[in-house]
Amino acid sequence: MVESEAHKKYEFKRTLEALRDKHGRGTELISLYIPHDKQVHEVSSQLREEFGQASNIKSRVTRQNVTGAIESLLSRLKLIPKAPVNGVVIFCGAVDIGANKTDMLTFIIEPPEPIVSYKYHCDSSFLLTPLEDMLHEKQTYGLMVLDRREATVGLLRGKHIEEMAHLTSTVPGKQRKGGQSAHRFQQLRLIAINDFYTKIADAASEVFVAIDPKEFMGVFIGGPSPTKEEFESGAYLHHEIQKKILGLFDVAYTDESGLYELFDKLGEALQDLDVVKEKKYMERFLKELVNDSGLASYGEEQVRKNLEMGSVDTLLLSDELRKVRITIKCGNCSNEEKKTITKKAGEEYQPGNCTKCGSGMKIAESVDIVEELSTVADQMSTNTAFISNDFEEGNQLMTAFGGIGAILRYKTGI
Ligand code: ZN
Repeated sequence: MVESEAHKKYEFKRTLEALRDKHGRGTELISLYIPHDKQVHEVSSQLREEFGQASNIKSRVTRQNVTGAIESLLSRLKLIPKAPVNGVVIFCGAVDIGANKTDMLTFIIEPPEPIVSYKYHCDSSFLLTPLEDMLHEKQTYGLMVLDRREATVGLLRGKHIEEMAHLTSTVPGKQRKGGQSAHRFQQLRLIAINDFYTKIADAASEVFVAIDPKEFMGVFIGGPSPTKEEFESGAYLHHEIQKKILGLFDVAYTDESGLYELFDKLGEALQDLDVVKEKKYMERFLKELVNDSGLASYGEEQVRKNLEMGSVDTLLLSDELRKVRITIKCGNCSNEEKKTITKKAGEEYQPGNCTKCGSGMKIAESVDIVEELSTVADQMSTNTAFISNDFEEGNQLMTAFGGIGAILRYKTGI
């Protein structure tokens, strides 16, 4: 099964969320970050040193928990001859599971991005910030400000602006000198403008093409009118970059300060872009509902039916959805039921008694509903979109539609 980037990101987010909930009684949860180039045997010998030092811990319980965790880590490391490309993170420790009990748990994570530095960290919770930082947007935008005399090309990463190229032209002003024919003057001027636009485009394309396409979100162009419009419609940029022009903005300056002026005007455009895809899906979904076209479906049961029929084009799942699909089986007869339950921390589901023979039922299988539905979606070549709560329509999916919706390929009446 090929997992989409969105799905991987979602899963990573959920893993971090689960780890965030784990706590130790004392400073006894160990977080071990091993970069790719760190020798695993070095890590092991450092851990043995830590093991020796742990004998100084005063509290008997904490001491036992820390040494226990280190022992567990050492045995895990034996199975890892070399850290993977992005390194590996191991979380281990006696996690508080309530009712005055702890449980020695180990989590091994291969991060989506390389780990930069080795870390051995012992605390009452796991150290997650280096992984959480990986969730932050790595989006890069191209910025250009230009008029017929000057142009500046820059990059916007996060909130940081970097000037990458600055160009000036020899395009003559509008006033011709005496003695020149008006026609000839105009012709030369147009040629000079065209040459300058080509120079700007070449410089900008070189900068933008070098950026990882996965991170390169698009280009914003600033400048006075009609220069920037002329530049855009002339398609001077590399065709891949030209396709990624996201908007034109009126900007007075065309030097480095113009990049900041442009950035100030982007505010709203950028915020929108982060959720622009999700927003489009939700708008489409709501439009189909309002128009009563029969091309939108919601509710777990209805969407599941549509999914299994293969009629779903895009499955919409709120990333706030916290439900589990369980299969319960009777220990006596062959009765089997499937149910969806809401996950509550520290609460165990009691399956109750068999409706056929009255014997006790047992949970045979338990799977996160997001995993369950998106797996069916993959089998049916249905696109899955994870919808965040960060915008009005996204919030609506969770509150008004139970977190599950679908845009259909054709009408099914379900
Ligand atoms: Zn039964």
